[in-house]
Amino acid sequence: MLLERLARILQNEAHAAGLKPTQWEALRYLARANRFSRSPSALTAYLGTTKGTVSQTLMALERKGLVVKAPDTAHRRHLHIDLTPEGERLLLQDPIAAVTRSAEQLPEQQRRHLAESLSALLTDTLRQRQGRPFGVCRTCRFFQTQHPDGGPHRCGLLGVALSADDSQRICQEQDPGP
Ligand code: SF4
Repeated sequence: MLLERLARILQNEAHAAGLKPTQWEALRYLARANRFSRSPSALTAYLGTTKGTVSQTLMALERKGLVVKAPDTAHRRHLHIDLTPEGERLLLQDPIAAVTRSAEQLPEQQRRHLAESLSALLTDTLRQRQGRPFGVCRTCRFFQTQHPDGGPHRCGLLGVALSADDSQRICQEQDPGP
């Protein structure tokens, strides 16, 4: 099974720099998530794991100086997590980046087909498990484009302005619509 072999290779390579695979996944998530989604609960939903695992993962990353936790500015009882500059630097050595680069070198049409097929497979798998899509903001049904050439855009759900950078990030509230 092709997917299984690819997953096995990725799994074998996901122990670089003294980090566990879940710790790498958390770093990748935090690098891509928007400011409304960098919380322990959103990370728990994204990884499809338990709160305890996420809590231990974040504590380990914090001890290594790769992430920093702070009270959320909007909801003081909630925590907001960010990568530190050290965490961003470590992600440049992401062990699975070589696979991503191989995918990027495929011919354009093959790359598009691969992205569409994997996206359809992931959507179907998540639907069966009632998982949230965590899609890219600009593909959300609440995304309102005010300036097609760049930000600020607007979130119709949260009622806040969105920058061009926000529009490219993944979000726990993203809803692709019907
Ligand atoms: S438009 Fe959708 S994806 Fe973007 S911030 Fe709002 S809810 Fe999240």
